[in-house]
Amino acid sequence: MNEEVTAELHCSHCDHETIHTLVYAGRLLVSTTCQTCKTQIKHEAIDLRLHYLKDLEHRISTKPFRLWRRFWSAPVSSMISLPRNIMLQPKKIWSEIKAILNK
Ligand SMILES: [Zn+2]
Repeated sequence: MNEEVTAELHCSHCDHETIHTLVYAGRLLVSTTCQTCKTQIKHEAIDLRLHYLKDLEHRISTKPFRLWRRFWSAPVSSMISLPRNIMLQPKKIWSEIKAILNK
């Protein structure tokens, strides 16, 4: 059973902050859809792992958020299911994650 959450994120297609629909299957974020241009990004668990390892390693190690520490302490289980409370992180972090996923 999927659950939808809306959040303001940066859309690479619109090139500005738009309302997105985030679809969760349990705790796993499966897709992000821009409500303005309808661009959908599917979040593959493997892709998330690779992107995080490659691009966020430095950022995570230098930003001692509690969430990131937990993420780092159990990378395999955490990376494939982004905690919903990542939504509470500053918008800047979300934008960075979005930018990385869009590469
Ligand atoms: Zn858009």
